[in-house]
Amino acid sequence: MASSQGISLQQAAERRMSLPDALAAGTTAFRGAYVHVPFCRHKCHYCDFYSFVDSDGRQRAFVERAKQELEAWSPCVSAPLETLFVGGGTPTMLAPDELRDLLGAIRQAFPWKAKAEWTVEANPETVTPEIAAALVESGVTRVSMGAQTFQPRLLQALERTHDPASVGRAVGHLRSAGIGQLNLDLIYAIPGGTLAEWQDDLRRTLDLAPNHVSCYGLMYESNTPLGQRHAKGLVQGAPEELEVAMHEAACAALGTAGFEHYEISNWSRRGQRCRHNELYWRNDDWLAVGPSASGHASGLRWRNVPRLGDWLADGPWSPVQDVERLSEDGRIGEAFMMGLRLLDGMPEGRVRDLLASGAKATVRQLAIARHVEAGLLEWVEGTLRLSARGRMLASEVAVDLL
Ligand code: SF4
Repeated sequence: MASSQGISLQQAAERRMSLPDALAAGTTAFRGAYVHVPFCRHKCHYCDFYSFVDSDGRQRAFVERAKQELEAWSPCVSAPLETLFVGGGTPTMLAPDELRDLLGAIRQAFPWKAKAEWTVEANPETVTPEIAAALVESGVTRVSMGAQTFQPRLLQALERTHDPASVGRAVGHLRSAGIGQLNLDLIYAIPGGTLAEWQDDLRRTLDLAPNHVSCYGLMYESNTPLGQRHAKGLVQGAPEELEVAMHEAACAALGTAGFEHYEISNWSRRGQRCRHNELYWRNDDWLAVGPSASGHASGLRWRNVPRLGDWLADGPWSPVQDVERLSEDGRIGEAFMMGLRLLDGMPEGRVRDLLASGAKATVRQLAIARHVEAGLLEWVEGTLRLSARGRMLASEVAVDLL
């Protein structure tokens, strides 16, 4: 990240910036918390999250260190938080007693709203009855599980180690334990995958009756082995028409099944959107705990160092790697980028307010007019939103508004 005001990235690294000092500059009302658990059973070659196979058995050390950091954050939160997201990595790689300890410390550290949403990410092969019980007993209300695809050869292409049957088994354990809300993550446009296989993935997902589904086109990130092979032409991505057809198939199958398409890649049963992700898309404030976790407070964004060894050796605050205080223009650009991802769109008044200031106001006005003319953006009942075609080209629209 580049720094546009205040402290520079390098200064932050040199000073190992203290977050309380940086946050003191603004009035922060955190609404959620993110905790990053970096352990995985296997590193998938397309994954650019900070996660790895730990041969040193540092899970217990991780939990103890996270507890220190949570305690340090505790005085910074006065109003009850609404959402928790424990992501990774694979949080369900922790042993049941470690999960209980971590979740108990999170509960203790902050005040929580009575109906707070508590999500934990899981991989199907790690969900046992004991893990499911630990989650429910600790107050987890929602599990987000990476099913990705039900085709064994495509799971292999992704280097995922679970077998398709483990998804149903894990869902069974979670339901028996009493988890009410379940998201299944799917990936489409996997090299070699067909439209018929994707339609089968959607059918099998719906058979498991989740209340939320996320569908992402496979990304070729430059810092991953798959991305590097793709850049060298050694792996061919799915043709664009196929990717569009797959997205449309998801819209059709999930729409017919009664799901509300509320964000480019996300569908939910009515009233069961992921509140934590909505917090990101609405640019609210959340705190971040754990190596590589990113947080946002009063226009300040930061990212903790993505190295478990450094993080364990420091404390109680995470050593911070990147920090950025967004300029007014940066904030306006992000508000457009995130706001347009939501299919509800952005109310005209909000658009007008955002266009009233910032050095790039005229550029943005012209960009909106151009994209409306090209059919990528549309005004519907007083809101500005991406059209069906615009949703497939969302990043092009976002670049112009950033
Ligand atoms: S299991 Fe998930 S977090 Fe872990 S390496 Fe694979 S994609 Fe990344």
